[in-house]
Amino acid sequence: MTGPILNNKKKNKSKYIIIAIVSIVLLIAIIVIATIVNDPKKETEEQSKPNEAIEQNIDKEKQETEEEVSIDNKQEQQDEPTTPVEEDPVQETEQPKTNEGNTTVGGYIEGQPEPTEPTYIDGVLIANKKHPLPSNFAPGENKEARAAFEDMAQDAKAAGFELVAFSTYRSYEYQETLYNNYVSRDGKENADRYSARPGYSEHQTGLAFDIGEKGKEDLWLTSEFGETAAGKWLVENAHKYGFILRYPEGKENITGYMYESWHFRYLGVELATKVKASNLTLEEYLGI
Ligand SMILES: [Zn+2]
Repeated sequence: MTGPILNNKKKNKSKYIIIAIVSIVLLIAIIVIATIVNDPKKETEEQSKPNEAIEQNIDKEKQETEEEVSIDNKQEQQDEPTTPVEEDPVQETEQPKTNEGNTTVGGYIEGQPEPTEPTYIDGVLIANKKHPLPSNFAPGENKEARAAFEDMAQDAKAAGFELVAFSTYRSYEYQETLYNNYVSRDGKENADRYSARPGYSEHQTGLAFDIGEKGKEDLWLTSEFGETAAGKWLVENAHKYGFILRYPEGKENITGYMYESWHFRYLGVELATKVKASNLTLEEYLGI
């Protein structure tokens, strides 16, 4: 009987071992299942954190954009541009301050293809809403125009005004960036009211100078500048140095631009003097 008893004891021992192993396996299984069940939660929590961070960033950006827009709106309402110290003054150039709604007159020819060559009429380089420039036309600031401006600024100083050319040459790419920013902010229709499309800005010729008075930066890019002694002096004397006031008041339909008391175009003394004497815009004078 010893044999079977021993066998039974062995069998019992084996049973306990099997139960113990099964228990351990079950325990491990429970732990593993518990871990798997918990993990996705953790992942979700971890994932949600960056999302919150991104959302917060987006909110922040949105707020910043809204602030910028509200600042700009405020400026437009107040008829005042950003001072060029804060931002490139170019960004505010061409923004109308008054007579909103007239700007679509004398507008663009929709679907006009990009030209391969710049337009010269009677030897005069033209950039307006009917005559765009090629995107690769990049002459830089005109040296003759710069020298003429310096002469004019010197004489203006003697007359009591310190003139500053705060925006002159602008590349196609820069104008493109400016315009696209305005479009994404205000929509195309609104952007076209105050910003030239790339290729259509006279600043790309290197012959356009936006002029203001040093110490009176708050009047830069405003129609009020034209009412100051410096603004009036410019209108009366700029032609002697080869410049004309390019977008005079009341000629929006012809030039395609609002009155810009600050925007002067270099034509050379001879032609500028003739245009000034004719009391016509450049478009009218050249018959374009
Ligand atoms: Zn200008």
